[in-house]
Amino acid sequence: MRVEFDNETQLKDTLTRLQGKSELKAEPVRKLRPMVILKGISKDVPADDLIQSIIRQNTVLTELINNGGGENLKLRFKRENRNANLYNAVLSVEPKLYNKMLDMGRISVEYQRVHVASFSPFLQCHKCLQFGHTKLRCTADQNLCSHCASTEHDVGKCPNKDKPNSVKCYNCHTHNTRFNTKMDTKHTANSNTCPRLRAMREKINNRVDYGYTP
Ligand SMILES: [Zn+2]
Ligand SMILES: [Zn+2]
Ligand SMILES: [Zn+2]
Repeated sequence: MRVEFDNETQLKDTLTRLQGKSELKAEPVRKLRPMVILKGISKDVPADDLIQSIIRQNTVLTELINNGGGENLKLRFKRENRNANLYNAVLSVEPKLYNKMLDMGRISVEYQRVHVASFSPFLQCHKCLQFGHTKLRCTADQNLCSHCASTEHDVGKCPNKDKPNSVKCYNCHTHNTRFNTKMDTKHTANSNTCPRLRAMREKINNRVDYGYTP
């Protein structure tokens, strides 16, 4: 069960009162680390060496990185860059480090100055269309089609793409079946208009700890 509080004091009071009660266990929702994307890293720098390279060449960041015992700067996944000799890297970072890196705008990676940008931790899997992971870490057996909600093919091989009225959102359809709701399903599963996607994105973005209270 998830309970929301108006402020920090109410939350702390409740947690204190529940302490030591064996019938009920309470803990605050874990905050998410912010993420950054580094765009256009040379493939001469293997992703496995990336973190060490950043530590070596950006001495102004060393302390902030090392404070976390290896947890403050972590490679989450790689992305293709339009240039085949380059790649993009998405990293999860500790809030202070996140703000520092964005202030710097660029960091050194070997002989390059690589642009740093904020990256939303909202992820949707292209394989199973669920949220919170990418297809690299997907454990689903089936490919689902984001266009027509078929479980037989992925969107790349969708035979219905040109057919009018074939668009159907897998996630909204499943939600309707499971909870007996009547959400509109006439959109793709990765559409910005999908109510499931919007709700999930809001939930994830609200959990990110940017190191300050807005
Ligand atoms: Zn998946
Ligand atoms: Zn399809
Ligand atoms: Zn939808």
